[in-house]
Amino acid sequence: MKAAVLYKTKQPLQVEDVDLAPPGEGEVLVKIGAAGVCHSDYHFMNGDLPITLPAVLGHEGAGVVEEVGPGVKTLRKGDHVVLLFRAACGRCEHCAKGRPALCALAGQLRNTGRLLDGTSRLSRNGEEIRHFLGVSCFAERAVVPIEGAVKIPDDIPLPIAALMGCAVLTGVGAAVITAAVQPGSTVLVVGAGGIGLNCVMGAVLAGANQVIAADLSDAKLETSLDFGATHTVNAKDQDLVAAVRELTGGEGVDYAFEAIGNPRATRQAFESLRRGGTAVSVGIAPLGTDLSIDAGELVYQEKTLKGSYYGSSRPHADVPRFLNLYRTGRLPLDKLLSRRYPLEKVNEAYDALLAGEVARSVLIP
Ligand code: ZN
Ligand code: ZN
Repeated sequence: MKAAVLYKTKQPLQVEDVDLAPPGEGEVLVKIGAAGVCHSDYHFMNGDLPITLPAVLGHEGAGVVEEVGPGVKTLRKGDHVVLLFRAACGRCEHCAKGRPALCALAGQLRNTGRLLDGTSRLSRNGEEIRHFLGVSCFAERAVVPIEGAVKIPDDIPLPIAALMGCAVLTGVGAAVITAAVQPGSTVLVVGAGGIGLNCVMGAVLAGANQVIAADLSDAKLETSLDFGATHTVNAKDQDLVAAVRELTGGEGVDYAFEAIGNPRATRQAFESLRRGGTAVSVGIAPLGTDLSIDAGELVYQEKTLKGSYYGSSRPHADVPRFLNLYRTGRLPLDKLLSRRYPLEKVNEAYDALLAGEVARSVLIP
């Protein structure tokens, strides 16, 4: 089958034929219907985050189960599934407390680049190729552990389902689960890319009265208005914190989301809060990045700064719930899908993403 392989950081992905072994115990083989072009893969491509190579990238995907391994009872051939890059065991303390994003299972998949039995299903000419976050969906097919697949209704278009696997759970989840944005509140979203637009949608869904989107690109800010942003600030032309204060009658916002992975932007998000407000860091910064905030503001103004990973979501409950909101038009995910590319054009798709041309594009293998 065809797959996009990363052999060396800072080099293009190679789309080539690789071998995929059948699913083992507790695994399923999924024919990929769509794979999202997410900025996070780029962190691994350029070496910001560590990865064992070669590996098949792609962590936001959806498809149809084609084959089930021994012992699989919860999924069957023909099931449509969303793939999860934070597969969770369902039994550990974090899972039991409703915080599966913190489960160690996903850490094991990530750190080894292999499936849960410690081996890989991917190879080329007998040489091992690693999995990526237990997903590796930049390929025609993927073998994944059942913990990393959520069954969804057949009528959901697979490109929309793919977006659930990262952008939607992460961005909408940050707003409605991590921050639990309250009706009538004021919200700032710093970064109007794929994740930021999902934070905007989440804030709107939660009933925020004012949603300010900030970015350096006028085109992205224009797009954010289609998703329900009420105001925009181009932080290239003006001081972001001062602009937010002005838009909120001098107060600052109740909630601020940082969706870039830039420590300076996180600091600005924190400074833009009103007293008692909550800033949520969603973007992924390169490994070892330091972050500084004013310690006085934290205490005297009782501000909160928290991280949000995978939107603090419980995917088996939240994927169906968010898909229902898509069905009824309350999560306008069709607008998020800017372009579709064949797998062969994966490098072109990343160039377009980095140039800021697209909100979210998908590869159709
Ligand atoms: Zn992602
Ligand atoms: Zn667990």
